[in-house]
This record gives sequence, structure tokens and C-alpha cells, in this order.
Amino acid sequence: MTAERVTVLNLYPGHMNVYGDRGNMLTLRRRLEWRGYEVDAVDHHPGDVLPDSPDIVVGGGGQDAAQALVQPDLLEHGARLREWAESGTPMLMVCGLFQLFGHHTYTVAGSALPGLGILDVTTDAGGGRLVGNTVTVSEEFGPLIGFENHAGRTRLGPGVNPLGKVPRGQGNNGTDGLEGAHYKNVIGTYLHGPVLPKNPRLADHLIQVAVDRRFGPTELAPLDDSAVDDARASALARRR
Ligand code: GLN
Repeated sequence: MTAERVTVLNLYPGHMNVYGDRGNMLTLRRRLEWRGYEVDAVDHHPGDVLPDSPDIVVGGGGQDAAQALVQPDLLEHGARLREWAESGTPMLMVCGLFQLFGHHTYTVAGSALPGLGILDVTTDAGGGRLVGNTVTVSEEFGPLIGFENHAGRTRLGPGVNPLGKVPRGQGNNGTDGLEGAHYKNVIGTYLHGPVLPKNPRLADHLIQVAVDRRFGPTELAPLDDSAVDDARASALARRR
């Protein structure tokens, strides 16, 4: 029997890869392969053609200049990305691309960058950066461990839920105690790390949604996460 194939699309890994966000793609790939799936890992760079119907879409963070470089290509593909999001494709967008999946963001230099509006969030430039190790407490995924570094202050509109709350860390804007956004199967977050190797439950959520949609209800084989469990316990015990 040929292995079932899963396509994972990584948006702009050449530009949007601060703190190794590309590791999110690697984590999805390995956790799928360990369960016997074949993975088409597709890197999308500005000017490339998008694959037909990816099973999971991920994207990372980047400096303001990198966001400005990828934004025209992103908007050009907006209709398809919106269609995928509306139809339930699991997506994970970190920091710079989280911001660009919202209505707009501003660079520190003051230029407005219109985004896709897939997530009902807006981001304004703030004075001072929100930086540090952080834990987002999510009802659905438990404690999500990561590292944030952003100047943008993101506010959620009524069309999204937060990903979680930040008892430790600054989160979306340093004031409302919320972190990230969740709409349908699209998750936006400020968590770098990269986030998925540190938070396998979140990685498996994206995988579960993807394989259920592609192949029908599926029981995912458990993996040995003992090493990451140890690392998580130590990170959770550390003060910010
Ligand atoms: N340039 C954006 C900000 O500082 C995004 C930064 C990032 O992706 N780490 O808000």
C-alpha cells in the first residue's frame, strides 16, 4: 500500500523565519513521517505558484522590512488563502505573518501594511518591544511555551477568539492579557521558539485536523514525547 500523502505549505521561509520558525514545518513533517505519512513540504517564496490544496499552512515571523517584502505576494494570493481558511484548512501563523493575516499592521517607521483580513485583528506599532520567554495558557492546548519579540500591538476584533491568556508574558499588546487569535482552524500567535517542537499538542492538533479532513476520521498513533515533556517542565518552572 502506498503511504498517504500530506502537503504542508510553508509561507516565505526565506523572509519569515526569525528564531527558526521554519522548525514548525520540520516538526509537522517528522511527526507525520513517524506515523507513516509521506510529506510534500512546499516552501513558497514571492513569485512562486501556490500548490493546489495544501493540508496544513504555516508561516513565521520577520522584521518589518521582510514583512513589507512579502506583503504584495501575500495579497496577490489572498483569495485562495481566504478560501482555504474559510473551508477549514489548518493554518499556523507566527508573529509577522500573524499580523499580516489580520486587517493591517504598521511598521515602526509608520508605514501601513494592509493584510489579508483572514483574522479579525489589527496591529499598531508600539513604543518599545515586547520581548521574553512567555507561556500562553490555552483552554484547548494547555500551556503553550514560547518566546516573543515584537513591537506591534495586536487587538482582537469580535470575529476571533484569543489563542489563550498570558499570566506570564506580554502577549498581543502587553495590556489585555490575551495572546494570539483563533478563527476556524487558523491560529495566529506571537510564540516563536519555534513553537511546535516545544508544544507537540499544538502540532498534533494541526495534524489531526489535516488528516481527518483529507482521509476521514483518523486515530493518530501516540509518539514518545518524553524528552520534550522534560524540557517543557523545566521551561514552565523557570521564572520569566
Ligand atoms: N516586525 C514585527 C514586529 O516587531 C514582527 C516581528 C516578528 O515577527 N518577530 O511587531
